[in-house]
Parts: sequence; structure tokens; C-alpha cells
Amino acid sequence: MAKIGFIGLGNMGAPMAVNLVTAGHEVKGYDLSAVNAAELANGGGEVAKNIADAVSDAEVIISMLPAGEHVRAVYLEKDGVLASAKPGSLLIDCSTIDVATSRELAKKAESMGLEMIDAPVSGGIMGAKAATLTFMCGGSEEGFNRAEPVLSQMGKNVILAGGAGGGQAAKVCNNMLLGISMIGVSEAFNLADALGLDRQKLFDIASTASGQCWSMTTYCPVPGPVPTSPANNDYKPGFTVAMMLKDLLLSQDAASSNGITTPLGSHATKLYQAFDDSGNAEVDFSGIIRFLRGENGES
Ligand code: NAD
Repeated sequence: MAKIGFIGLGNMGAPMAVNLVTAGHEVKGYDLSAVNAAELANGGGEVAKNIADAVSDAEVIISMLPAGEHVRAVYLEKDGVLASAKPGSLLIDCSTIDVATSRELAKKAESMGLEMIDAPVSGGIMGAKAATLTFMCGGSEEGFNRAEPVLSQMGKNVILAGGAGGGQAAKVCNNMLLGISMIGVSEAFNLADALGLDRQKLFDIASTASGQCWSMTTYCPVPGPVPTSPANNDYKPGFTVAMMLKDLLLSQDAASSNGITTPLGSHATKLYQAFDDSGNAEVDFSGIIRFLRGENGES
């Protein structure tokens, strides 16, 4: 069992850190919010005074922060992770951030003799609680082999996608596809309504035909066919519009900085931006179906 320092104990980080406590690790965590940090204490972990206190004695350091700017600050600031980690410790950033920042931090860590991997997740808050997340990892094989046993205690799939930043690259491609597919499934249901086709019938057919995809079969945007989907709970998240928009913007940054166009990714980003701007940032992202029907602002 390892000594683990955990930075960022929000919706995802707190249940992930508690799962590590349950697995028998000694977990010391830090969050700017004392209320969020208390979740770790409630789960049997120890709350640190600051970043240095959380990581200076840790063999493994995990971060789960909102965006690139937060990860950059936590790793690079005076008394941050890189300045405070002991030699030989393994750094794992599970936040979803841009590929360039992820690669830059891994390089900086390497120059200081520290191994760092990026390991963004899919599976949401339910997956974090149930320890069923998918981790998409980027880094060296050696770093991955060290990280895998720890990540397995918070998830069920742990995959090495490539070198540094490879996990972020996989995440951004996956979530661009998810944003596009949710809009596609929503449009299909809206068209079915207009054509007088029963929603359940469309689901029964499309979920076993060539229109099948996760946005249809697991996260269906209309109430009824998939009882656990947020559509049955007034589109309470789940995975918010703000988070989907963040990931789509990351995908568009990555596309433009690498000289490619993603026309549907670009259009999905505009639609989610407009949905977010109309006061729906905290709605589940599958609620875009209402926006496409013109129910929440203009479409
Ligand atoms: P969150 O906002 O609930 O938690 C982030 C935590 O980081 C907060 O508690 C905040 O106080 C803390 N924090 C910010 N700056 C800090 C600093 N300098 N030092 C210490 N703590 C700091 O976010 P979340 O939902 O837990 O998401 C975390 C990451 O996981 C994001 O990158 C998100 O895109 C990704 N993600 C989230 C979901 C989801 O469903 N929530 C799913 C997949 C991936």
C-alpha cells in the first residue's frame, strides 16, 4: 500500500480519493475548499494544510482539477507539486486539460527527475463513486506500469493511449465525438416527434440498427427508453453543458493548433456555446435536445 497525495477533492476527486482509502492506501489530500476537503476526512483520509503538506511524503501524487490553468498553478507554483515532491514519486494528473499543457508539465517533471503521466477519465461522478472509471493514459510504459495498479482501484479500464499528452488526446477526441453524437441522437428524436413516430419505437429500432451509439443506448436524451438517463430527471447532471463545452473548446484548440478542420466538432461547439449562453451551463448536456427544439433560447 502506498502513501498518496491527492490535490483537488471536488465532485470527481473526493470519491476517487475515498476509493483509494478504501483500498488501503494512506491518502492525504488538499483542496482550496475546506467543504470539499471534508469529504476526504469523512471517507477516512487525512486533510492536508497545503499542497506541500499533501505531497512531500507521498510516493504517488494525483491531481483532479478543473482546467489547465489550475493544473499549471498547482504543479509550478512555489511550494507546488514539482517543488515539493520527493525524488522518485510518481505524478498522475487525472484532470481534463489541453494536450500542450499536459506535455509541457510532463517535460518539466522529467527534467526534474520525476515521472508524470496524464490520465483523464471517462465515467462521470457515478463512475468515480463506483470505481468504474475509464482512465486514458499518456506517458512512458514504465510510468504507466507504476500507475496502473493505483488507477485500477478507482476504475475498471486503464489504457495506455500513447506518450505524454496521449491520454488528453484520446479524451478530447472521444468527447468531441460524444458532443456530436448527442446532437445527432437529439435531432433524430425531434424529427421522430415531428413525423409522429413513437419515441420508444425509434429507440427499439435505432438502438439495434446502424444508428446505435452510447448517446442513444446509455444516455438517451428523451425520457422513457433508458430510465437512468438524466432526461428522466429533468436533465439534472450528470455531465454538465459547461463541461461538454469545455471539452469541445479543447477539441477545437487542438484541431486549429494542429492545422485540421473538424466541421461537425466546430458546429457542435457553437451549439453548446449558445445553449450555455442561454443560461443552461449547469444543465445536463443531453438537455441540448430541448434547445434544438427551440425550448431553451433560440436554436
Ligand atoms: P470540481 O470543480 O467539482 O472539482 C475541482 C476541485 O479542484 C474543486 O474542489 C476546487 O476547489 C479544486 N481546486 C481548484 N484549484 C485548486 C488549487 N489550486 N489547489 C487545490 N484545489 C484546487 O470538478 P470535477 O467535476 O471534480 O472535475 C475535475 C476534472 O475532471 C475536470 O478537469 C473535469 O473536466 C474532469 N471530468 C469531470 C467529469 C464529471 O462528470 N464531473 C467527468 C469526466 C472528467
